[in-house]
Amino acid sequence: MAKVGFIGLGNMGGPMAANLVKAGHSVTVFDLNEEVVNQLVEQGASAAKKVSDTCTGADFVISMLPAGKHVRSIYTGEDGLINYLSKSALVIDCSTIDAESAQFVGKELANAGVSFVDAPVSGGVAGAAAGTLTFIVGGRDEDFAKAHTVLKDMGKNIYHAGDIGAGQVAKICNNMLLSILMAGTSEALQMGVDHGLDPKVLSEIMLNSSGRNWTLEVYNPCPNVLDNVPSSNEYKPGFMVDLMAKDLGLAMQAAQQTNSATPMGALAKNLYNLMQNQGKGAEDFSAIFKLFSEKS
Ligand code: NAD
Repeated sequence: MAKVGFIGLGNMGGPMAANLVKAGHSVTVFDLNEEVVNQLVEQGASAAKKVSDTCTGADFVISMLPAGKHVRSIYTGEDGLINYLSKSALVIDCSTIDAESAQFVGKELANAGVSFVDAPVSGGVAGAAAGTLTFIVGGRDEDFAKAHTVLKDMGKNIYHAGDIGAGQVAKICNNMLLSILMAGTSEALQMGVDHGLDPKVLSEIMLNSSGRNWTLEVYNPCPNVLDNVPSSNEYKPGFMVDLMAKDLGLAMQAAQQTNSATPMGALAKNLYNLMQNQGKGAEDFSAIFKLFSEKS
């Protein structure tokens, strides 16, 4: 069993760290929010007094933070972990961030003799809790192989997308498509409702027709079609609108770099920015349904 430092115990990182504890790893956790640290300690983790304590004797240091600036700052900022990590440690950043930040941190750590992979995830909070996440890894072959020691205890599918940063590119391609599917599913469901259809029946019909997709099947945006999804729990996240808007910003940056045409992604980004402007940034991203259902 490995000694693991884990930083960032939010909606995703909390259950991921809990699964590592359950699997028998020795896990030392850190978050700016004391409450989530205490929850992990109750489940068997040790609390780090300061972030650098997560590096003490660690075989793996895993981070699950909001954005690139947090990841850069934790590892390479003032008094960053780069000064504390052992050369035998592997750093695994599971946050969804820009590929440039992943490459920057990877390069700085490599200069200090420490290995790094980017390993963003798909599967949402339910997948994090169930230990069935998909990991999309960017990094060297030997680091990818080593990362399995801990990734297998948090996820079901582990893919090697390419070099450092490739995991992030694959992840934002996925999330751009996810946002488009969520917006499209919402408008189709609401049009049916406007015509008097029962959204449960309509969902069942489309699930067995060519409109079938993940948002309809396991994350339905219309309240009370499915139990245990954010739409049936007042759109509490889940995966926040602010985080989806961040990912769509990353997708647009990536598209610009290669002059790729992404008209649907651009529209989805604008819809999520609109939600932010309406003060819905902290709601679950399936709350985009309300853009169509709320009528004066
Ligand atoms: P979250 O906001 O719930 O959690 C982030 C955590 O990081 C918080 O607990 C916060 O206190 C902590 N944090 C922030 N700065 C810190 C610092 N400097 N030091 C220590 N802790 C710090 O976010 P989340 O939903 O868990 O998402 C985390 C990452 O995973 C994001 O990059 C997101 O895009 C990605 N992601 C989220 C989902 C999802 O469904 N929520 C799915 C896939 C990927």
